[in-house]
Amino acid sequence: METSETILHQSLAEVPGLTSRIVKMLAKEGMLTVMDVVGLLPFRHEDRRRKETAAFHTGGIPGSHAVKVVKTQVRFFGRAGSFEAIVEHSGVGGLGQQLTLRWWNMPFMSKTIAIDMELIVYGRIKEFKGRLFMDHPEYEVIKGGEEEGGASIHNDRIVPVYPLRGGLAQKAVRTASWHVMERLGDRFTADILPPTTGKGEFAGLHRSRALHTVHFPANEEELNQSRRYLALEEFYGYQLRVVRRRRRVHEAGGRSHRGDGSFLGAFFKELPFELTAAQSRSLREIQADMASALPMNRLLHGDVGSGKTVVALAAMLTALESGSRAALMAPTQILAEQHYLTAQKWLEPLGVTVSLKTGTLKTGAESAQISIGTHALLHDRGCMSDVGLVVIDEQHKFGVVQRARLIEKGRTPDVLVMTATPIPRTLSLTIYGDLDVSTIDERPKSRGKVITKVRLQKKMAEAAGFLAEQIASGRQGYLVFPLIEDSEKVDAAAAKKGFAEWSKLLAPHTVGLLHGKMSAVEKESVMRDFREGRIHALVSTTVVEVGVDVPNATVMYIHNAERFGLAQLHQLRGRIGRGSHTSYCVLFVKDDDEEVRERLAILEETDDGFQIAEEDLKRRGPGDILGRAQSGEAPLQFAELLADTRLVRLARQLAERTLNADPELKEPRHAPLRKLVQEIDSPQAMLQ
Ligand code: ADP
Ligand code: MG
Repeated sequence: METSETILHQSLAEVPGLTSRIVKMLAKEGMLTVMDVVGLLPFRHEDRRRKETAAFHTGGIPGSHAVKVVKTQVRFFGRAGSFEAIVEHSGVGGLGQQLTLRWWNMPFMSKTIAIDMELIVYGRIKEFKGRLFMDHPEYEVIKGGEEEGGASIHNDRIVPVYPLRGGLAQKAVRTASWHVMERLGDRFTADILPPTTGKGEFAGLHRSRALHTVHFPANEEELNQSRRYLALEEFYGYQLRVVRRRRRVHEAGGRSHRGDGSFLGAFFKELPFELTAAQSRSLREIQADMASALPMNRLLHGDVGSGKTVVALAAMLTALESGSRAALMAPTQILAEQHYLTAQKWLEPLGVTVSLKTGTLKTGAESAQISIGTHALLHDRGCMSDVGLVVIDEQHKFGVVQRARLIEKGRTPDVLVMTATPIPRTLSLTIYGDLDVSTIDERPKSRGKVITKVRLQKKMAEAAGFLAEQIASGRQGYLVFPLIEDSEKVDAAAAKKGFAEWSKLLAPHTVGLLHGKMSAVEKESVMRDFREGRIHALVSTTVVEVGVDVPNATVMYIHNAERFGLAQLHQLRGRIGRGSHTSYCVLFVKDDDEEVRERLAILEETDDGFQIAEEDLKRRGPGDILGRAQSGEAPLQFAELLADTRLVRLARQLAERTLNADPELKEPRHAPLRKLVQEIDSPQAMLQ
């Protein structure tokens, strides 16, 4: 007997109602089987339910109309012919109104559409010289044509819009999913969520129905319920992986690092400042984890300038005190070198040996107690042997993958991941589901204020005068550009050109240039000159965005600020206001664009990264933030629902429960889960 599961693997050519033309089009989109169609979920829907009484309207909003063709014509403009069909409303609302449907450069449409046919059309109507037009409408023949469909698939309902390019493919996929759903019937796939989920909020719902509804919902309520169901399912799969990974790390067992204070005592004595309460609390949390025999898996989360580095150094000293070595990994060479200098300054006086290893540089003994570097570190046996604590700065994605690799090699060091990306709590639960989190939610009190202003580009000359004054009084500044080469296409100011201009504007002060295309050695020498005050103003691309720490720099001018996202501007601004002097950040914008000003105003008002992140979230949606945070495509199709903490929590509970009952997912009823978790666990998925 044919089961539904076998239908899922059937070729689309075998589905009744699908023409070979459509099957071919789908093959072009990589869709060959029933499963391929079911699994391509719409990313949005259009409400094309027709209002019988609505007249043709030009309000700019697309609408659905039932119409009858009264006249057709092909018109030629030069060589290209366009097809026009003049239609009348077949409902009561549009009596006497005529509308011209227009297909530019498609004279062959005259073979498809003829007088007296009844159509449903969907599109935007515009008026030109007293006539109404709809260009390239989505249409469907209801009566009178070869393609006559009877019931409407593409109109007269809430229709799915799939993540595809081009209207034709859209229609082909929609047609296919309609016929596939007809064929599949009520129960065609096993549930992934535990049976208890079908109660309460999701009463009456199961996987097959939710999938069906998401393709062709009868109404919005049903659609929302089904989307939430599928979102929960996705979170559940994700949490199964996270919970399992967490348990595995624990099973692997780690080292207990109990410091005796021999290094830390001296360290804090020499440190030129006191830790803030939030830094101390975070350090205590880290040390408690390290003392335990379970491997630490902690995220140290703190806004730019909150002082994460010093906490990490203290944690590394704790590892040293208990006889281990420690490693600190940074995402860029510039940062690795900066950390190396800091460690040299603060740790070498305590008798601690420190080494640096990046792609191109290597300094210090291989067996040093503390190894600092980029990810090149990880491939160096000598650097990584006997390491009990790994600190990963500013790169959480990196963190997950590296940790997996460390465990694979049979060592389970304590891992501390640091980030300044202000991720709202709801998202962090999803992204960092397997990490414990410490938050530094306070900045050192001794800091000078940062004043931020949005200004027009033409005020630059005045601004140059101000920067020259600051330099004359001993301070330094950053001049940030969005691109390094002049490009007509994006019309952005270029750092190289900027360097020439600023060198003139600020003479006789020294201006330096830093961009991503320079060699590592060049970059390091420029950074050194800037750090040590030989360069007064540094023209740079966004390579200074992450982590660079030069407390004497008090001015930052950002050119074409309109090209940056809020969160990125906040990161950039974090490079100043690190010393005790008042700092100034000016966001230069090209034209007096109200929208840009309004968007950037939040940066004038607050320097709270979380508040800025929320504003970003409101403007751009969580998918974007999640996408960026993971530097890849979000693995969740329903990312827009991420703001729903309750669903994430529920998924977490369900996952814990499932894994308590069946830790290895060996029971037959968990076969679909096993597959799901394995798929997500693949190395490729780990990189997402
Ligand atoms: P981030 O959290 O952005 O990585 P850093 O660790 O680079 O910040 O610290 C920023 C600056 O603040 C550094 O110059 C650091 O020495 C200094 N700093 C850190 N903690 C304190 C403190 N408690 N009081 C004063 N300055 C501090
Ligand atoms: Mg940092």
